[in-house]
Amino acid sequence: MTANATRVLVLNSGSSSVKYQLLDMKDGSRLAVGLVERIGEETSRLSHTPLATGGDKREREARIADHEEALKAVADELSADGLGLDSPELAAIGHRVVHGGLKFTAPTVIDDAVLKEIERLVPVAPLHNPANITGIKTAQALRPDLPQVAVFDTAFHTTMPEHAARYAIDVETADAHRIRRYGFHGTSHAYVSRKTAELLGKAPEDVNVIVLHLGNGASASAVASGRCVDTSMGLTPLEGLVMGTRSGDIDPAVVFHLKRVAGMDADEVDELLNKKSGLVGLCGDNDMREIRRRIDEGDQRAALAFDIYIHRLKKYIGAYSAVLGRVDAVAFTAGVGENAAPVREAAVKGLEELGLAVDADLNAVRSDAARLISPEYARVAVAVVPTDEELEIAGQTYALVGN
Ligand code: AMP
Repeated sequence: MTANATRVLVLNSGSSSVKYQLLDMKDGSRLAVGLVERIGEETSRLSHTPLATGGDKREREARIADHEEALKAVADELSADGLGLDSPELAAIGHRVVHGGLKFTAPTVIDDAVLKEIERLVPVAPLHNPANITGIKTAQALRPDLPQVAVFDTAFHTTMPEHAARYAIDVETADAHRIRRYGFHGTSHAYVSRKTAELLGKAPEDVNVIVLHLGNGASASAVASGRCVDTSMGLTPLEGLVMGTRSGDIDPAVVFHLKRVAGMDADEVDELLNKKSGLVGLCGDNDMREIRRRIDEGDQRAALAFDIYIHRLKKYIGAYSAVLGRVDAVAFTAGVGENAAPVREAAVKGLEELGLAVDADLNAVRSDAARLISPEYARVAVAVVPTDEELEIAGQTYALVGN
């Protein structure tokens, strides 16, 4: 790597999409951002914004057969702006990898053994790891000489103690099939808990934070002195909070009931709980803006969906207050957490005994900055902290390979 190689390309490869950002770690600035969607379909779509040149967003629709073609198309777009993958300024490629199991507790430079281990984890992350592996292999083929780093969604949660990570099921069965709570959104929980400490003017080791990552997927985590001690997602991202399309916590017997009484097979139950449940299952919409609009118009189904969502959220805030013992801050992040003031207000309403309150005026402010929304008298700081998973992935990648 040359001395002035300070750029990191961050790749987030999904089953039919690739999201990417090129960052310059001299100052954390974004040089280009983009997305390839509907890979493998007739009308794939690529949108690319060259922020470095101040150019307009470019979009094109044409069939992109697979991830290899997608990444080549991304490379072409970057080259057109003088930011190509062949640039000596590119230090590394950082890959978001969803499941790192117990082995990967930190970002890791990818070699054959690492790739094999990520492949070994496919049975516990069948929807995500195969796409991540394809993204890595494709990027390696394009730039075999460049360091490629895996940043795992599960890594931040590997500090969870056994009593939080284990399910109360037969130990031999659990161990034979690697069944335990791994947690996800770890890159976001790590970033937001650290930023929250910064906002309070303290070191991460000196604060206890409950992070509420509320996007289309949603998870909560309890972070004690900078280390995760509990999180709401489990073996898969299905456990925990009510999400856009996922049920979150449910009596596992519902699954046997659906099989025995409704005659559904495993794939159908999987689809029901992951794609047709949560807010969308309850009221037909998973966008919180639309749900709030319907509530304002007096829609009862939307109102009930909102109440169920908030009830679950409050239960986790209460549970994690108990887990942490002392809470210094509750931080809201991701699409809903950063933007939906009514969710933040409702989530802490009635929790004054836990030291929580929200100032209505501060909560109503719209801003991209990390900010406090609790009144001065409140014992626990309530914060809105925009997450930035790409910056975190780029930062962790660069810290590993940079000079
Ligand atoms: P994410 O997964 O973090 O991108 O979050 C996506 C979700 O954020 C959407 O499905 C919406 O429910 C929610 N969201 C985005 N913008 C807003 C907004 N302005 N107000 C309320 N909810 C929002």
